[in-house]
Amino acid sequence: MITLSRRLVTGALAGLALSGARPALAGAAALAEASASRRIRLGAFTITTLLDADETIDGPWPIVGEDRPREEVQALMRENRLAPDRFTPGFTPTLIETGTQRILFDTGNGEVGFIPRPAGGRLGQALRRAGIAPETIDLVVITHCHTDHIGGLLDGGVPQFPNAAYVVGEAEYRFWTAEERLSAPADSNTYRSAAVVRSHLVPLRERIRFVGPGDTVAPGIDVVAAFGHTPGHLAFHCESEGQRMLVWGDCAHHEVASLIHPEWHALFDLDKDQGIATRRAIYAMAATERLLVAGYHTAFPSLGHVEARGTGYRWIPVSESGTP
Ligand SMILES: [Zn+2]
Repeated sequence: MITLSRRLVTGALAGLALSGARPALAGAAALAEASASRRIRLGAFTITTLLDADETIDGPWPIVGEDRPREEVQALMRENRLAPDRFTPGFTPTLIETGTQRILFDTGNGEVGFIPRPAGGRLGQALRRAGIAPETIDLVVITHCHTDHIGGLLDGGVPQFPNAAYVVGEAEYRFWTAEERLSAPADSNTYRSAAVVRSHLVPLRERIRFVGPGDTVAPGIDVVAAFGHTPGHLAFHCESEGQRMLVWGDCAHHEVASLIHPEWHALFDLDKDQGIATRRAIYAMAATERLLVAGYHTAFPSLGHVEARGTGYRWIPVSESGTP
């Protein structure tokens, strides 16, 4: 929805420019650049969400609701005034500037991710446009090792955040580096992720700190278990001056379908039942504790709150709920 309106506005400004209103052209360019990032405050922290990929793809079925009839998911989309078979997921790394450190959560698709270039792999560009040089990132934190989260670590073998240390879930790293992962079918998501772990993450291992639930990443930023999507999938609880945010990685693949039906299977969850239990627990925590959420795949700018609704939940984008 947000993406659509952004495009409409950009298109309208570009149209004005063509009709001879020259300042509108600069306006359109500025808007297109600005729309690749969104910046808000969280206490003393500055939060910037960054758009790595902007592509409309098939779904949300079966990415969400794999175990349900396609028509049921289509009907839910129609009820919510959304296209039944196409959606534009966010691919949204989050940057936290704590005042002493620049901490980046996930690195986007890079050259090897789920959304190929030129539509995907734009994180570096989005960072620079937001005024952040990739060399100034101190810490890169990985929620899990799917290709759309670790693909941006290296480009052509070159680390994209050359001065950063890295934080990776210990269980996650152990799972993906196990030899048997490479015996999965070559066209499977599991094989592709295991291969990209070897090519894009393992070369950085000297600089990786391995963590698990309850560990502290940096002052105010703690690790939360969110297993199921992958065996070591992690979320991160972030707090500054009493204001709180959850970076939840892939706890939702669609802001309507995942939230209202946490019990629907997610295609890319490796453990479907654990994925359901994690969604229920994480959504309940976000709703009860009124946490701001940075949701990687919810529509850009991928920031919102969660509210209980019936047997499920509802996503309230920050554009509606305001900044905390
Ligand atoms: Zn993902």
